[in-house]
Amino acid sequence: MPETKLNLIAGDWLAGDAEIENRNPSDLSDLVGHFTQATPDQLDATLDQAHRAQAEWAACGLERKQAVLNAIGNELMARAEELGTLLSREEGKPLAEGKGEVFRAGQFFTYYAAECLRQLGENADSVRPDIEVDVRREPVGVVAVISPWNFPTATASWKIAPALCYGNAVVWKPANLTPASAHALTEIIARQDIPKGLFSLVMGSGSSIGQRLVESAKVNAISFTGSVPVGRGIAASAVQNFTKLQMEMGSKNALAVMDDADLDLAVSLALNGAFGGTGQKCTASSRLVVHEKIHDAFVEKLVAGARAMKVGHALSDGTQMGPVVSESQLTENLAYVELGQSEGAELACGGQRLNMEHEGYYMSPGVFLNTRNDMRINREEMFAPLTAVIKVASYDEALATVNDTDFGLTSGIVTRDLARATHFRRNARTGVVTVNLPTAGTDYHVPFGGRGESSYGPREQGRTAAEFYTTVKTAYISAGVPQG
Ligand code: NAP
Ligand code: MG
Repeated sequence: MPETKLNLIAGDWLAGDAEIENRNPSDLSDLVGHFTQATPDQLDATLDQAHRAQAEWAACGLERKQAVLNAIGNELMARAEELGTLLSREEGKPLAEGKGEVFRAGQFFTYYAAECLRQLGENADSVRPDIEVDVRREPVGVVAVISPWNFPTATASWKIAPALCYGNAVVWKPANLTPASAHALTEIIARQDIPKGLFSLVMGSGSSIGQRLVESAKVNAISFTGSVPVGRGIAASAVQNFTKLQMEMGSKNALAVMDDADLDLAVSLALNGAFGGTGQKCTASSRLVVHEKIHDAFVEKLVAGARAMKVGHALSDGTQMGPVVSESQLTENLAYVELGQSEGAELACGGQRLNMEHEGYYMSPGVFLNTRNDMRINREEMFAPLTAVIKVASYDEALATVNDTDFGLTSGIVTRDLARATHFRRNARTGVVTVNLPTAGTDYHVPFGGRGESSYGPREQGRTAAEFYTTVKTAYISAGVPQG
């Protein structure tokens, strides 16, 4: 039996007092491994050591930080095949997506390696004579990173890389559904030339170790990606200590398909956005807002495309969509299929549990037709391979429908009309907007985040990340010569 994978506590690999079993959602007979669970005492100990290590890390030269981030990034990219296979095996996304995610995670590290050397402050003359002002950014301190299972390596990396770049320590609580990817990334980071305890892995459940982490006064900042209800609870905990907070949460992204759209392009963008990652993306196109003039032709091709998608084992050749991540996710998804039909939506295809060669959490990609934007299937994030078509009579109605949501992460328009594209880009109330591109799939060197219930606090990624991972200091300097 393989050994239990351990947590990284104050720089040492330690067992906790319990462990969890991690199984492959494509094949439940495949045991990925056993993973220890951190104890409250271990969490406290690692936070204390993180503060000591952070002071040392903040004081060390920029080139050392740059070298560490480059080494992590280059190793992730070099091992994308191996680590992507592990990711797909535990999370269920097709191998190409798993490999792509690990490679992208590496790019976050090499991007922030370069940013280490681009940290410039500002200076100014004081309004008082003979005084200078120096404005610079300093590390925020010890950062708690809490990440979800759907992008287990990339989401964590787009938090860990800037945290380390800007001189912080990190305590990482990954999702318990995807501990193998977390352990693999930690193993790479732990081998680098970093102070003992600068980086900690605290695998454990959200409700126990996660909750204790966000309540701790020893944490200076929390970066969270996950669901809205959990985010609300984290914010309430964080405010008790005035802990700096950044959260990326749920969404209900819409893709607007206009009557002048290229039909094949629109269908392929919709299929990609709705069913990539088995629909378990915060940027998924879960609402398709379609102009009535193109509606019937679009729907015919969309449904044919969804029916033709090959659902299968994440690691099998030709798989276009893997299983959903867990039994409870599958149960929720099937409940939404029922709910949609009870609300009056027509299920044109899919939405069924599939029995495959291996026992796993498989379901067929589902398309709802004749839906209204006020139905719960169009209001609530399903995080499922389900999408709903909403027919509209005009561009104005399409824009209003796209914006009629509690969320605001991404939105997209498919059109050949420059005026419409421009108007949409400027009036869609989302943090990310795409034109003739899927609502999912973003870069690493520019800001990412949403509005409404999708996000809270400063944006992530690109140079904008400095806002969260640093704190500004304003210094006034006089030559010390007595006036007059
Ligand atoms: P989740 O249930 O909110 O969990 C996210 C993370 O928070 C996990 O590590 C979880 O641990 C932890 N957690 C749970 N309760 C906690 C608590 N009381 N205190 C501290 N941590 C706690 O979300 P999920 O089911 O993993 O992921 C799906 C959600 O993530 C979706 O809503 C999706 O939209 C969102 N998401 C958003 C983005 C974005 O950038 N906007 C990107 C990806 C995903 P355990 O899982 O181990 O319990
Ligand atoms: Mg969860």
